[in-house]
Amino acid sequence: MIHIMSVNALPDTTHGPSIGLPAAMGALVLPAPPCQPEAPDTPESMIVAFFESRFAYSTLDPTPFVATANAHIARMYAQGKRVGEAFLHALPVFLSVVNTQQRHGGPFGAIVVHYAGGLDAHGYGIGPPRVLGVGANHVGPHSDPSAHAEMEAYRHAAHRQGASDLSGAVLYTSCESCPMCLAVANGSGLSRISYLNTRDDAEASGFLDKRQYALCALPRATLMTSAHRLQASVRRDLRGKLGAHGAVVVDAHGDVVAAGDVDTRSDPTGLASLQAVRRAVQHQAAAHTAPVWCLPDGWTLVCREIPHPAGLMMADWARLVRPRDPAHADDPACDSPIPDPTRVIHMTEHYEPLPVRDRAGQWHIRQATETTYEQLTVPESARRVRTACFPGGRVSQAARAVFEAWQHEAAGGARAHLEDPSKCPGGSFAGNCP
Ligand SMILES: [Zn+2]
Repeated sequence: MIHIMSVNALPDTTHGPSIGLPAAMGALVLPAPPCQPEAPDTPESMIVAFFESRFAYSTLDPTPFVATANAHIARMYAQGKRVGEAFLHALPVFLSVVNTQQRHGGPFGAIVVHYAGGLDAHGYGIGPPRVLGVGANHVGPHSDPSAHAEMEAYRHAAHRQGASDLSGAVLYTSCESCPMCLAVANGSGLSRISYLNTRDDAEASGFLDKRQYALCALPRATLMTSAHRLQASVRRDLRGKLGAHGAVVVDAHGDVVAAGDVDTRSDPTGLASLQAVRRAVQHQAAAHTAPVWCLPDGWTLVCREIPHPAGLMMADWARLVRPRDPAHADDPACDSPIPDPTRVIHMTEHYEPLPVRDRAGQWHIRQATETTYEQLTVPESARRVRTACFPGGRVSQAARAVFEAWQHEAAGGARAHLEDPSKCPGGSFAGNCP
């Protein structure tokens, strides 16, 4: 007998109050998004059958998951059954559970889906879905602050289709995307994001995406510095360090540690700014045995252009924007909420473009602009990418239970909550994972 969920409590369809910053930084209020009811389109037995399959799977090798999920979908259609939103949301929950159990990263999973008949006017799929790419949080094992589940799913999907343009695709994710992942969704042309846990749920479990959303709305001059404000000799020096690269990371001695150049042929995350930070962190990791995802104090990201918001948010995840508290270097909750604008410098007043290539080989230049930054702060109804949470029903409860289990362990609770999910607060789908 499959025990999916033991809680009877209805999911929380109300979010916490609006978030704000200290008055000195200028108050910012972001309205919480309304949630949509669950469409009763996927019989629970279908979801259970997938979880029962118990196929061997490592989240570090996502390809077998795609094959298994698509085979399961094909079987359902062969039986005349429709695969709907609930099933597609269950897959990232499954990924988040397996990822946590295998200790490959945080409790986050995501999948990119294409529909055979495209999308309707509301962004919902027509015809059978096909899983194009999947991802789980691998920040730790990859020493890569950009290795969020969504980013890994974008990369996997783009690599598999040999093109970085994700137009017409839908992202299903176990948690509301952070600004970095949302910014890449904007640039890649992704049509819709549907998520389970919210930024409030994430914060309650120790993940600080909500703080980063608050950061996004601050004036640009508080987040980064234009080289025009620097002395001519400093500008010349930085220009020399940048050379022909799109971005470089410079250490506290002024030496270039890593360089980034745009390469988005089959990776929508291949921004110069983002890649420079990514390589700098991996450079740091090479000197350590434990996972690394922060850059040391005194290091600086130098960009040719105003960085794409995904690159800037990556710099923030690597602790270039909001300084760490040296006494609590491993606890992001202790990071300063006040950004340091001297850690990210742009040499020109142009915006960094995000060119993506479609499957026909055509390039589409998605130029970052002020509007791209605004997309991270406007209400969901005003976003170019449709985003909405998907609460209600057992899939949402399972996603929340995984967060609760993670939080329990992070607070010093027994590992058993993850090893034996029947002991999770509320239970979860996890009882049927490999
Ligand atoms: Zn993210």
